[in-house]
Amino acid sequence: MTRRVTLLGATGSVGASTLDLIAGAPDQFALEVVTAHQSVDALAAIARRFAVKVAAVADATCLPALRAALSGTRIRCLGGADGLIEAAAWPSDVTVAAILGVAGLAPTLAAIRRGATVAFASKECLVAAGPLMLAEVAAHGARLLPIDSEHNAIFQVLEPANRDQVERLILTASGGPFRTWTTDQMAAATPADAVRHPIWSMGAKISVDSATLMNKGLEVIEAAHLFQMPEDQVTVWVHPQSIVHSMVAYRDGSVLAQLGTPDMRVPIAHALAWPQRMATTAPRLGLDRMAALSFEAPDEGRFPALALARAALRQGRSAPTVLNAANEVAVAAFLAGRIKFLEIVEVAVATMAHLGVSHLDSLATVVAIDDAARRSAEEQVDRRTRGIAC
Ligand code: NDP
Repeated sequence: MTRRVTLLGATGSVGASTLDLIAGAPDQFALEVVTAHQSVDALAAIARRFAVKVAAVADATCLPALRAALSGTRIRCLGGADGLIEAAAWPSDVTVAAILGVAGLAPTLAAIRRGATVAFASKECLVAAGPLMLAEVAAHGARLLPIDSEHNAIFQVLEPANRDQVERLILTASGGPFRTWTTDQMAAATPADAVRHPIWSMGAKISVDSATLMNKGLEVIEAAHLFQMPEDQVTVWVHPQSIVHSMVAYRDGSVLAQLGTPDMRVPIAHALAWPQRMATTAPRLGLDRMAALSFEAPDEGRFPALALARAALRQGRSAPTVLNAANEVAVAAFLAGRIKFLEIVEVAVATMAHLGVSHLDSLATVVAIDDAARRSAEEQVDRRTRGIAC
């Protein structure tokens, strides 16, 4: 039976990999809904190519341009926050949540609240609102299928009958472009250096997060929520080849791993076709052609983001929300050339210290704290761009 797909964040990197899979399996999938933020031309091209039913832009000012670009078609055009939520609530069989950042929270929740199966990439949402989001998943009978490669790997090897026999989850990390750089070298790193990931081809924000190792920190939080594991049972190993995508260690000493070439189409395909599997054209793993698979402990001295994220997870409540918002602001400021690479984590530390930790009792509180953290992080960025001692 053909699966109807909604693709939130269709114009991004995860979006492109998803489109490639859908285009290659027209008998299995029908793309019905696509969304973007402001990339009207790219969204309209996707909408026409896949003859979707609904196209939505988050920026309401882009709606007239989207309507113009799709004139002569029967595609319904939506815009603004409400338009995005309406698009996400469309009754498809699988919703791919691949909007960048916490901006994906409201639309992803709209899908969850209609009990959707959500192929989930938008880790920032789970970091910012983990327990509340999972409560919504449970209340509405929705399902989250992780497509972040590490979490998808764990999902594949986590035996449902033996969840209470798990000793720890082992997330692997490529180490990013600065794995072998000194702190002094990183101090002078440019945005071009930071987005030049040695293994994965991804959007700019997650590439910078990989360079700081904040991505792995966010993933520790994501894994703790998704798989209900305490922070000290989520281990990280740097594995530069990115072949072993993650592992689950059981109490009997067995370690189960999922392997594959580093290609996002593989975990996305797993979630799209779940519980079946689908064919992909992703390059096959040639283990015989590999000299070695190596693993090393992350250097938390050079990469303080990982310890910061772990501390936020242990503190709980609003701490991960603040960390995520501050990081989003700081990464955007770094990409815009406003702050230096090492200042990304400094902004996050200062914002967390400034705001402290408070209770998160509702999604409205998450939005308010996210907002306050963004304003505080912006102030930190401003101080740094104006050279004021922090
Ligand atoms: P990209 O920056 O490539 O794409 C982001 C997508 O989200 C685009 O469609 C963009 O639209 C849309 N978007 C951005 N801002 C908003 C907003 N305010 N409101 C609505 N839509 C918005 O990101 P990636 O594809 O790299 O990453 C997407 C998510 O997936 C992130 O959470 C990331 O951490 C996660 N992820 C990504 C992986 C990857 O390989 N790229 C791997 C694992 C997880 P527009 O084009 O108009 O800006």
